[in-house]
Amino acid sequence: KLSDRLATVAKYIPEGSSFADIGSDHAYLPCHVVQSGKAVFAIAGEVVEGPFQSARKQVQMEGLTDKIEVRKGNGLEVIQPGEVDCITIAGMGGALISQILDEGKSKLDSVKRLVLQPNISAISIRTWLLDHNWTLVEEEILEEDGKIYEVLVAEKGNAFKAYNKNKMDEGLLMGPYLIQKQSEAFLKKWSNEMENWKRILDQLDKANETIENQQKKQELLDKIKMVEETLKQ
Ligand code: SAM
Repeated sequence: KLSDRLATVAKYIPEGSSFADIGSDHAYLPCHVVQSGKAVFAIAGEVVEGPFQSARKQVQMEGLTDKIEVRKGNGLEVIQPGEVDCITIAGMGGALISQILDEGKSKLDSVKRLVLQPNISAISIRTWLLDHNWTLVEEEILEEDGKIYEVLVAEKGNAFKAYNKNKMDEGLLMGPYLIQKQSEAFLKKWSNEMENWKRILDQLDKANETIENQQKKQELLDKIKMVEETLKQ
C-alpha cells in the first residue's frame, strides 16, 4: 500500500498515461500506478546508484519490467522527447524540483501534466510554473506521520488563471487553491510557520541592531502580517 502522500500524487496521474517518476528511489509510485492499470508505461529515473538499484529490484520483484523502465540519470535527462505525457517528482525540496524542471525544459513538449510534491518551499515551484506558463489546476495539502506535504498539479498555459491578481504574493507562498480551502493541515502548517518566524524575530530583537537585522525583521513582520490576514479570510 502506498503512503497517503504518494497516493495523493498517484491520484493526479491521468488514466491511461505514460509517465516518468523522477527521483523514484524504490519505485513504489510507478509500480503501484502501473500495477493498478492506471498508467500503461512508466520510467523510473534515479541519479544515485543505491536508489537506482532498489528501483530495479522492486520492478523485477513485481514482474513489471515490460511496463516500467528504470533509468539512471540526472533529472529529466532520462526521458526521450515525446515518451511521456505526465511527470511526477515527489519527496524533494521545491528548489530542487524547480531546478530539475528548468534544466529539462526541452523534454516538456509532449508533457501535459506535472504532479509535484515538494517537502518544503512550494513557493519555488509555483514561481517556476508561473514564469514558464504552466497553470496550477489543483493543489492538496495533507498531514502524514506528523509532517505536512503539498501536492501541486499543473498543466500548460494560462499561468495566471489560478491566481487572484491582487494577491499574487499570498498565492505564490501559500497556494491559491489551498488558501480557498483553508483545510486543517493548511491552518496547522501556517501557524507552525508563523511560530517559527516569531521565534526568529525574538532572536533578532536580542541581537545587535544592524541594518541587515532590521531588514530581516521587516521582511518577517511583512510575511507574518500577510499570512495572518490570509488566514482570517
Ligand atoms: N520520489 C520518492 C518518494 O517521494 O517517496 C523518493 C523521494 S527521495 C527522498 C528523493 C530521491 O530523489 C532520492 O532517491 C534521490 O537520489 C533522488 N534525486 C535527487 N536529485 C535527483 C535528480 N537530479 N535526478 C534524479 N533523481 C534525483
